[in-house]
Amino acid sequence: MISDILVHAAKCHGDQEIVSRLPESGTIHRETYAEAHERTKQLANALTKKLKIKEGDRVATIAWNSHRHFELYYAISGVGAVVHTVNPRLDPKQIIWMLDHAQAKAVFFDKSFAPIVNAIAKACKSVKNWVLMTDKTHSDAVDVKHKTYEELIADQSTDFDWPVFDEYAAAGLCYTSGTTGDPKGVLYSHRSNVLHAMATSASDVVGVGARGVMMPVVPMFHVNAWGVPYAAPMNGTKLIMPGAQLDGASLHELIESEDVSYVAGVPTVWLGLLNYLEQEGKRIDSVQRVLIGGSALPESLLRAYEDKYGVVMQQGWGMTEMSPLGTVNVLLPKQEKLDREEQIKIKLKQGRLVFGVGMRVVDDEGKELPWDGKSSGHVQVRGPWIASAYYRGAGAESFTDDGWFQTGDVAHLDGNGFMTITDRSKDVIKTGGEWISSIDLENAAMGHPDVAMAAAVGMPHPKWQERPLLVVQVKDGAEQNAESILDYLRGEVPKWWVPDAVEFIDEMPIGATGKILKTKLREIYKDYEFPSVEA
Ligand code: ADP
Repeated sequence: MISDILVHAAKCHGDQEIVSRLPESGTIHRETYAEAHERTKQLANALTKKLKIKEGDRVATIAWNSHRHFELYYAISGVGAVVHTVNPRLDPKQIIWMLDHAQAKAVFFDKSFAPIVNAIAKACKSVKNWVLMTDKTHSDAVDVKHKTYEELIADQSTDFDWPVFDEYAAAGLCYTSGTTGDPKGVLYSHRSNVLHAMATSASDVVGVGARGVMMPVVPMFHVNAWGVPYAAPMNGTKLIMPGAQLDGASLHELIESEDVSYVAGVPTVWLGLLNYLEQEGKRIDSVQRVLIGGSALPESLLRAYEDKYGVVMQQGWGMTEMSPLGTVNVLLPKQEKLDREEQIKIKLKQGRLVFGVGMRVVDDEGKELPWDGKSSGHVQVRGPWIASAYYRGAGAESFTDDGWFQTGDVAHLDGNGFMTITDRSKDVIKTGGEWISSIDLENAAMGHPDVAMAAAVGMPHPKWQERPLLVVQVKDGAEQNAESILDYLRGEVPKWWVPDAVEFIDEMPIGATGKILKTKLREIYKDYEFPSVEA
């Protein structure tokens, strides 16, 4: 049971802390795992007795990373209900759609999301209770009838016997971001979350023990913050919850004051922190490793953190449907002896399989491809924490008849088992019968000193079917010089990959999970014609 993790943490690592930057005030809050367990039992009593939550009910959260969100993870799953984490960056219409699809009975939300709740509450027919995740001094932010978290638990007993039920019972629900069509729900079970946490605890995976200090910047509304809220208490790791302030200065302050040794998040977050460090001339000497994933690790980011700040950049790959972890990049003993440039090439790969994840790479006909470092194909996975269906029957076409999940990613694996994601199936640029990896092209472009962000998209071309267009956001104050970027790329990528044009954009469209929204770019450039097309 997921509740076993917290019981263990309270007993064996009872004085280890959860430190939160409170989303409602920005002030620092501290509680130990033992205190968190007491409050979680009070919350479990409130859920079952006051809110009448029953086994199998869905209870939603719209919230930042905090000790209260942590307590909700354990109390909701602990009583046998399902914690449905909602991504607040989604369109309110999509949030209404998801809460209705899940038939959520109650919604817990942070004060900064009160405007969303004020706008959607009327339309959410299944929701019987709205709970503001703070105390009543903040109630004026909310227009709809609601309770507050602290009042809800204040008079509740700290006695609660965690029930034991089928380990396959649903414990969590997270929807994919739905950049194409309606979002699809993925259910996690007690079994899948506990096994995922145990697997990520291995020393060559995430492997943070009781001497580590872990700060998940990846939000708890995005694939369980990569499982950190389960793995950290399981191992007695001190947990730092950054709340609503994810800018470079705020993250730096927490890293310094709490001696954070291990952080996890998507590349855009580490780009923001790097800019802050460079501008202010600050350092992050306590940090030993950055777990980075969600999109490819740009080479420039790897070099900056490793060479200048002495931090190990550890790339991982996974997705909502995989709980999320599938592969993680750790050099093999024989690779420790290679020279730096060879090692960098390896570190830019997405890594090797975590025990428990089965993988095959297949061609368009479904034939399995060899792990030879060059045969690219569609990645399929299966295993105890990998979805075998979407919630309530959606997206059946993503699952093969023989039980594999089709990830939608295109990759090859080398003889040592290191996977290289070359693209998402729908982002591959198909030119004259060959495929160009948009990821590799983007990474190469990010190496140009003026480029802050780059996205490569395939645009129709009369002769080649598609050719790459590179959309670039330059760094503040940098010049928008297409020729200089193209010139640079000519030295970095095969000649036929060099984009046919570069377009500049003031602000790259970023989706709800911090990734560049290619769908939006395709919309912006839908009537695009390359300036010089010889038919
Ligand atoms: P969504 O599908 O809603 O964007 P996910 O967070 O589940 O949300 O995204 C999973 C996808 O992100 C993967 O299928 C893959 O394409 C991409 N991804 C994740 N990690 C990496 C990585 N390290 N390198 C390249 N792509 C990655």
